Amino acid sequence: MKKEISLAINGGKPVRDTYLPYGRQWIDETDIEAVVNVLKGDFLTTGPVISKFEQSIADYVGSKYAVAFSNGTAALHAACFAAGISEGDEVITTPMTFAASANCILYQGGKPVFADINPYTYNIDPVSIERAITEKTKCIIPVDFTGQPADLDTICQIAHKYNLTIIEDAAHALGAEYKGRKIGSISDMTMFSFHPVKHITTGEGGVITTNNTAFYEKLIQFRSHGITRNPKHFIHHHGPWYYEMHCLGFNYRMTDIQAALGISQLRKLDGFIKMRKHLAALYDEAFRNMKEVVLPFQNQDCNSSWHLYIIRLNLDLLQAGRKEIFEALQKENIGVNVHYIPAYYHPFYQMLDYQKGLCPNAEKLYEEIITLPLFPLMTEADIQDVIEAVKKVITHYSAEGKA
Ligand SMILES: *Cc1c(COP(=O)(O)O)cnc(C)c1O
Repeated sequence: MKKEISLAINGGKPVRDTYLPYGRQWIDETDIEAVVNVLKGDFLTTGPVISKFEQSIADYVGSKYAVAFSNGTAALHAACFAAGISEGDEVITTPMTFAASANCILYQGGKPVFADINPYTYNIDPVSIERAITEKTKCIIPVDFTGQPADLDTICQIAHKYNLTIIEDAAHALGAEYKGRKIGSISDMTMFSFHPVKHITTGEGGVITTNNTAFYEKLIQFRSHGITRNPKHFIHHHGPWYYEMHCLGFNYRMTDIQAALGISQLRKLDGFIKMRKHLAALYDEAFRNMKEVVLPFQNQDCNSSWHLYIIRLNLDLLQAGRKEIFEALQKENIGVNVHYIPAYYHPFYQMLDYQKGLCPNAEKLYEEIITLPLFPLMTEADIQDVIEAVKKVITHYSAEGKA
């Protein structure tokens, strides 16, 4: 039985006076100086700072190439183009992700096919991937959900067996490791996002890392209208002014202003991740003995970069649903969130005829999750506020001893 309760628990005094967001950037004076230096220079876009940023990313993850884009979604679109996705091709991805992981398939005329998740790691389940493969399957887009790498060895084996390309959506996983290897060096192409809630930011921005020269060249072309300026690739040659457009690309370029911010931010990445891990460990410690919540399961093969900290409610032990608990935490001024609404629940995907019931594990997870604030600038006091608020709300709604 659900209890009738006013949302203002214990007389309505919230745990925090000010709202704590679930994620935010950390910009310091060196970042600002780096940006200002570009503004005073000759190139605001398509200048030398872009290649420097790309080289820094490639060096960091251990890939041969990195290609910067105006945002992570544009980067995913370019990767689908480079992988040769076109009309009628099927691409397998997870529903437990931001819509962009599936939208990029549609941009190329492909068909997103959703495979279910593993109920413990919340990452795409290789068994479900293999079940979804048809003659039309061209590609797999696994997502390293919350920063914990997907089961990449098994996914690579499947890709090899069926001759598929892997585009890893690692928007959550810059700095994460899989069996001792940095994410960004393993899949055919890997995407990172530099949106302000992600590990490092360029305002908007994204990158694809790859070891494959053919993919690299296609990514470069696609980013700038499908144009090549390399005479080796020309069909004709009219003179020194000449360039050629070979495919229908876009203007998906990152600016040098953004790249300068990216270089400066990247220097701080390992420190940021260390803080995220520390804060996640404090949550783990605080909630370990609460039967009403399931903590994020960590695969021992992996080293998560902790983009998100998600608690899963054990609704059997609670007298309220996720919505009430979510709203109660908001009233405590805690910036909770839900990651994610299964991609095919969105009305646009429903219109494309994806049915509810497609991925039962993902759908069940969606009913039970709440994302807690996690970002490097959080203080110990902030973390204690979240812990206090979660304990207050969960204790209040706990079915224990109140039957
Ligand atoms: C942030 C994000 C993206 C998109 O990145 P943008 O830079 O915002 O375009 C794609 N996939 C996932 C899983 C993300 O979290």
